[in-house]
Amino acid sequence: MKALDELTFDNRFARLGDAFSTHVLPEPLDEPRLVVASKAAMALLDLDPAVAETSVFAELFGGHKLWAEAEPRAMVYSGHQFGGYTPQLGDGRGLLLGEVYNEAGEHWDLHLKGAGMTPYSRMGDGRAVLRSSIREFLASEALHALGIPTSRALCVIGSSTPVWREKQERGAMVLRLAHSHIRFGHFEYFYYTKKPEQQAELAEHVLNLHYPECREQPEPYLAMFRETVERNAEMIAKWQAYGFCHGVMNTDNMSILGITFDFGPFAFLDDFDAHFICNHSDHEGRYSFSNQVPIGQWNLSALAQALTPFISVDALKEALGLYLPLYQAHYLDLMRRRLGLTTAEDADQQLVERLLKLMQNSGVDYTLFLRHLGDEPAALAVARLRDDFVDLAGFDAWAEQYKARVARDGDYTQEQRRERMHAVNPLYILRNYLAQNAIAAAESGDYSEVRRLHEVLTRPFEEQAGMEQYAQRPPDWGKHLEISCSS
Ligand code: AMP
Ligand code: MG
Repeated sequence: MKALDELTFDNRFARLGDAFSTHVLPEPLDEPRLVVASKAAMALLDLDPAVAETSVFAELFGGHKLWAEAEPRAMVYSGHQFGGYTPQLGDGRGLLLGEVYNEAGEHWDLHLKGAGMTPYSRMGDGRAVLRSSIREFLASEALHALGIPTSRALCVIGSSTPVWREKQERGAMVLRLAHSHIRFGHFEYFYYTKKPEQQAELAEHVLNLHYPECREQPEPYLAMFRETVERNAEMIAKWQAYGFCHGVMNTDNMSILGITFDFGPFAFLDDFDAHFICNHSDHEGRYSFSNQVPIGQWNLSALAQALTPFISVDALKEALGLYLPLYQAHYLDLMRRRLGLTTAEDADQQLVERLLKLMQNSGVDYTLFLRHLGDEPAALAVARLRDDFVDLAGFDAWAEQYKARVARDGDYTQEQRRERMHAVNPLYILRNYLAQNAIAAAESGDYSEVRRLHEVLTRPFEEQAGMEQYAQRPPDWGKHLEISCSS
C-alpha cells in the first residue's frame, strides 16, 4: 500500500511534446472536499484507501497541489460531432496530470476533469459541475462492475466554487483513470491538419504502449486498426446487452482502446426502448439506443479515413467489415447467457428479438425482467412475469418457445440455473433517478447517498441486504428525466 507521495510517474504522452499537448496548470477549486472515492480504483494505483480521507487528497485532486513528477498537459484532438467535422477540440476542461505505474507494472493516466481553462476551452469555462462529476464517477465504476470496458474514476472532489450553467451550481473535479486517453479524434486531428509525421508518431506511440502484439503482424498499423474495430464491437455489444446508452458518441469521445469514455448525458434503460434518446440535445436521435450499433461503425469509418495515409483503402474496408459480424456474435452470446442458455441454436436471435419487441410494446423493465427470469424455474418465472405484458397472447407464445428452448438446452438444476443467470443479470443498475437522488443530497452537502449508491453498484449481481430500494423501477418523477450536454 502506498501513501500519496509514493506514486511513481512516467509521463510518456507528455514526452511526445508540444505538437500533441500543452503544459497547463490546474486551477484550484475553493474549499475542496472529498465527495466520494473508489477503493477499487485506488487499488489500481496501490493507494491505501485511508488516504482518501486526508486533506492532502482533496488538495491534490482539487487542483491545489501537484506532485513534483506530474506534468499536467492538455491534449489536442478534433473529431466528428453529430456527424460534422470540428477541426479543433482538445482537453477544454481536463488535464492529463501524468502517468503513474503500479506495482504490477501497469500504467494509468491520471486525468483531472474540471481543472480549469486550457488553450482548447473555446467558449467554455473549463469547469465541471458536481452533478456531472458524480454521474461520471458512478457510471465508470458501475460499468466496470458489470464487466463493460470503461475508463475508471478515482474520486470526486466538491467545492464552493460557483459555476454557471442554466443556474448557478458548484464546481467539482473527477479524477479519471485509463490506460490511455487517446481518442479517434487524435488521429483525425493530425490527418486533417496534414501532419503525417506526427500522426505516425502517434500511431507508433499507441502501438508500442498499447498494442505491442500488433508489432509482430506484417502490417502493424492495420493490425492496430483491426484490434480497435474488434474492441469497439465487443464494447458496444455489451452496451446493447445491458441497456447502456452513451448519449454522445462523437469520435472525440471514442477511445482507441475500445473503452467507454467521456460520460455526459448517458443512461441505462429502465423500460426497454430501442428508440430511447438519453441526450436531451440529440434532437434527431442520432445516438438513440439502437443507433449505437451503426454509429459504432460510422465512427470506425471516420477513424479509417484518418488512417488512409498508412493503410490501403481495401484493407481498411476489410477490417471494417469485421465490425457487424463480431458485434452480432458478442451480443448474441451475452443475450443467450442472460436468458440462461448454455448452447447455441440458430433461432436464438429471433427468440431475443421477439422478447425485446414484447418488452418494448409493454414498457417492461429491462433489467428486472431478466433478473427475475432466473429466480425460479423457467415455467414458474414466465408465469409470474406475464402480468407485466399488455400483449398476453404474444407473451404466451414467446414463453412457450422459451420453455421449449430451455428444455432442449441441458439438464441442470434450478440452483445452477439461478446462479448462472444471476451472475450475468444485475439486480442493481445506475438508474437516472437513483443518480438524481444522490446528486440532490450531495448538492445540499450530504454525500452519504452517493457513497451508498456507489457501494451498491460495485456488486451489481449480488443481492444486498437492506438495499431493496436500489432495485426498484423508477417512480413517476424519475422516468423521463431530461439530461442535457450541459455539464
Ligand atoms: P464533451 O461534449 O464533454 O465531449 O466535450 C466536447 C468538447 O468541448 C471537448 O473539447 C471538451 O473539452 C470541451 N468542453 C466541454 N465542456 C467544456 C467547458 N465547460 N469548458 C471548456 N471546454 C469544454
Ligand atoms: Mg469529450
